[in-house]
Amino acid sequence: MNDSAASRNGDSVRFHPASSPDYVPLPQLRDLQSRRLKEVVTRAYENVPFYRRKMDELGIAPGGIHSIDDVVKLPFTVKTDLRDEYPFGLFATPMDRVVRLHASSGTTGKPIVAAYTQHDLNVWKEVMVRSLAAADLHEGDIIQNSYGYGLFTGGLGAHYGAEALGATVIPTSGGNTDRQIMVLKDFGVTAICCTPSYFLHILDRAAELGIDLRDLPLRAGVFGAEPWTEAMRTRIEEAAGIKAYDIYGLTEIIGPGVGCECFGQDGLHIFEDHFYPEIIDPETGQPVPEGEEGELVLTTLSKQAMPMLRYRTRDITRFLPGPSPSGRTIRRIRRISHRSDDMFIVRGVNVFPSQIEEALLRVEGTLPHYQIVLTRHKGLDQVDVQVEVTPEVFSDRVSALEDLQKRLAKTIEQTVNIRVGVSLVEPHSIARSEGKAKRVVDRREM
Ligand code: ADP
Repeated sequence: MNDSAASRNGDSVRFHPASSPDYVPLPQLRDLQSRRLKEVVTRAYENVPFYRRKMDELGIAPGGIHSIDDVVKLPFTVKTDLRDEYPFGLFATPMDRVVRLHASSGTTGKPIVAAYTQHDLNVWKEVMVRSLAAADLHEGDIIQNSYGYGLFTGGLGAHYGAEALGATVIPTSGGNTDRQIMVLKDFGVTAICCTPSYFLHILDRAAELGIDLRDLPLRAGVFGAEPWTEAMRTRIEEAAGIKAYDIYGLTEIIGPGVGCECFGQDGLHIFEDHFYPEIIDPETGQPVPEGEEGELVLTTLSKQAMPMLRYRTRDITRFLPGPSPSGRTIRRIRRISHRSDDMFIVRGVNVFPSQIEEALLRVEGTLPHYQIVLTRHKGLDQVDVQVEVTPEVFSDRVSALEDLQKRLAKTIEQTVNIRVGVSLVEPHSIARSEGKAKRVVDRREM
């Protein structure tokens, strides 16, 4: 880091591969995790009546935790626990040590509140530096941060991490897409952070304005906060001429920066010196055999204000085997293809929106904008997949449109094993999102 960057970021966290926990030998990592687990369990037990009660019920005391392997003795924590303890019931520090509060959008019921001490904010900043460094960003990059600033963790999380990395941050937040494009173009932006669906919207609008993002210095996108697929990555990378990296996080654990891809773009590294991952069978709560798919469970190993013991994320993934292309020793998970509560059941078949996305985008002539509408007709569930098609396709002969429609229906049917209706719609007819996209509209109860 040069002097000017150092003075611009007085509290810079800097990224040094040689000293980063991303590369520590495994026995050392396990020791660190074991030590931190004992500390966090003690903190939770002594300060949070909820954890004390749950641990007492299982007959486990902090003294029974000797190493990281003992994590499985701890009780799970679930989303409704956070709602039941709303707003401050899970805090492990007095309020005067809490320097920041965030909350998740809480689409149903009360939001989830998250608290941070100064130490927690430093950890968050550190894992965001490690995320952005994994995505091959560094000092000198000009990062446009189009995650929403506010109660949502995306904006401020990425902001402080990017600053501490030594990059130049432009805090555009979400929305005002024409201005986003002006900034992208005029400020020499080299990387953007936002949801993948918002980036698609930016891409579309830029095309309307006659701006080809491939002509700009933009070289990377750090996209997260919602599920997206490899097919979507391919579309984005081709259209924008960038590398698109996946970043993962959740409010309950810290916000963005729980895990991120490295340049190998083959799974997300979990910063497991701070967030210990397990993968369990959602039905039995037991760990799945190594490498099998299941629900991701995370334990915060260093959080002070709001420790989370074995938090069930409902996000479905699996551990990836073998060494990472970047030499990082911390484990990788496959991209989160869906959350268990995203699933909808149609005529007895479990379907995830990501399966439909993957199938749709494999067919030429489609645009990456779609919505799945569920209805019930005479007691029978119907699925209508509405997908935008390119203007060329749309102005094609009726027979060509029908042909595309049939091909899409067949591809989806082969993937998810149910018959679906497909509606080809004009470009721009599906509502755009500045944050997380709404992929499924369920009208079955209406
Ligand atoms: P809310 O619960 O209101 O949506 P959060 O921002 O805390 O607010 O959401 C976290 C959730 O977002 C995660 O549990 C996960 O389901 C989803 N998510 C975050 N990042 C990704 C990602 N890269 N891929 C897939 N899903 C993601």
